[in-house]
Amino acid sequence: MSNKTLNLTDDVADYLWRVTDREHPVAKELRAKTATHPRRGMQICPEQGQLMMLLLEMLGAKRTLEIGVFTGYSSLITALALPEDGVVTALDISDEYTREALPFWEAAGVAHKIDLRLAPATETLDALLADGRAGTYDFAFIDADKENYGAYYERALQLLRVGGLIAIDNVLWGGSVADPQANDPDTAALKALNEKLHGDARVTLSMVPIGDGLTLVRKR
Ligand code: SAM
Ligand code: CA
Repeated sequence: MSNKTLNLTDDVADYLWRVTDREHPVAKELRAKTATHPRRGMQICPEQGQLMMLLLEMLGAKRTLEIGVFTGYSSLITALALPEDGVVTALDISDEYTREALPFWEAAGVAHKIDLRLAPATETLDALLADGRAGTYDFAFIDADKENYGAYYERALQLLRVGGLIAIDNVLWGGSVADPQANDPDTAALKALNEKLHGDARVTLSMVPIGDGLTLVRKR
């Protein structure tokens, strides 16, 4: 018994997933395929995907932003959680990575809900703002290049409706954010955003120690 967050052993992590796994079969296949990819560590873990699906269901989300698609796992689980007329606006710069996603989105019957935009994400977010889309999104998942997280957060916050949710991935960055000596550009960017969010009165905040750390902020 403890009033601190449990430090998960492999056995407990396996147990957690075994007794909660409701992963869609195509999502399982996509994860198995990405497990052979050299950059496989970039994919979210399935229990985090399942938490995100629960949050999307609670929000009644219809319009979401996906900043960082890779081979399409988080976009897939998001699209699965949206209603038939929902849309995931999915932002990435890599044709090579995102090309792997399409057959899985199609196999799961959700490709029509995913609007993939291949360009630097700040450009796409600025274009959405210029297009009058501020205040129209229910959810945003930030999981692209860490140095631009601050820019993505400010734009996503404008694009979100009041009561909408932003989920920010990798906020613990393998624990390096807690190391005062670690100041490479990615770690420094994550530390700066974590500290800024702590005092940001525009949002309600929780940092969840799932995966590599997931900060949830609700727009006030
Ligand atoms: N959310 C994905 C998942 O769970 O499978 C993982 C995303 S991966 C961590 C980060 C992605 O961000 C990569 O696919 C990369 O191509 C993309 N990326 C990197 N820099 C970017 C930028 N400036 N604009 C848009 N996407 C970018
Ligand atoms: Ca990530």
